[in-house]
Amino acid sequence: MTDSISYPQPGAGILTINPYVGGKSGDPDQGKVFKLSSNETPLGPSPAARQAFIEAAASLELYPDGGAYRLREAIARRYGLNMDRIVCGAGSDEILSLLAQAYISPGDEAIYSEHGFLMYKIAILSNGGVPVVAPETDATANVDAILERVGPHTKIVFLANPNNPTGTYLAHDEVRRLHEGLPPTTLLVLDAAYAEYVRRNDYEAGIEMVANADNVVMTRTFSKIHGLAALRLGWAYCPENIAAVLNRVRGPFNVSAPAIAAGAAAITDTAFAEQAADFNDHWLARLTKGLQALGLEVTPSVGNFLLIHFPDADGKRAPEAEAFLTSRGLILRRVDNYGFPNALRMSVGTEEANRKLLAALEQFLGVGA
Ligand SMILES: *Cc1c(COP(=O)(O)O)cnc(C)c1O
Repeated sequence: MTDSISYPQPGAGILTINPYVGGKSGDPDQGKVFKLSSNETPLGPSPAARQAFIEAAASLELYPDGGAYRLREAIARRYGLNMDRIVCGAGSDEILSLLAQAYISPGDEAIYSEHGFLMYKIAILSNGGVPVVAPETDATANVDAILERVGPHTKIVFLANPNNPTGTYLAHDEVRRLHEGLPPTTLLVLDAAYAEYVRRNDYEAGIEMVANADNVVMTRTFSKIHGLAALRLGWAYCPENIAAVLNRVRGPFNVSAPAIAAGAAAITDTAFAEQAADFNDHWLARLTKGLQALGLEVTPSVGNFLLIHFPDADGKRAPEAEAFLTSRGLILRRVDNYGFPNALRMSVGTEEANRKLLAALEQFLGVGA
């Protein structure tokens, strides 16, 4: 009997959501812990951003500038953008949720790829939408598989480029082919959370595409290369029609004053971000080679993290590896919920963390034993 339900019921789809599981932080009794589970930067934020945050403490009684003018101006200057088309959010997660909220009504469909970032599924289900999953090829989004699933009810296609947790990316001509295959009423969301790390000539985050189309949004974050994950800050570059929608549905003060101040300082400190990208480039290559030398399969990554596949042998699989590494203070991320039950994702860490990780895995696998 339906009248036996005695408490408020959420909208359709909400209770089918598996809550997002963040990276573990480790056990404080373990001594020094290296958190390599959430793709945070090992280098911290720019000193200028830290200083701006501290200075913001002098006026915490004031509401922030609801238009985040200083921040949008700094972002626009950094990338040569029109600041009226930039919308900021409390992390890019908020922007992804707002896009889903604004464009998906119950029963509408939205597509993401097989190993795509799980926030998309949560955002779709939260709004009564139907998640449609497109298979990947070699742990990489497949444009044809996505386009085959586009129908009259497809409101959004979410593409993380590069993708988390695989680290793989689509070249610009593939993203363009994806866009050209979409009806003008379907929104293409290019989630470029790791764009600053990518060093490939055939990659583009999506700025040019947004400038020339009415149905493409690019989202970016301050949580990764800018080292401001704790502040929750992201932004979107949008066509005018979509900026107008996001500015209607977002909270009037959705970004805090310390985040605005620190974000503006961080985006202006291009030398710091460049150094962080250099550091990552160096260690991404060294870790990839080091892991392969141990006989492990590694998905080629252009981000600040690696997907490590373990042998299908007793005692050597991902859960055992995770337990072994955790006991040595190295916290990696399980990715079962992304369709990789026998892999772990590791973020590029400090030099000390990276070396410890390689040494620990050598021990775990018994290489040379
Ligand atoms: C880390 C990450 C984000 C960033 O989320 P924030 O809410 O800005 O911290 C967005 N997309 C992907 C694919 C990510 O991995």
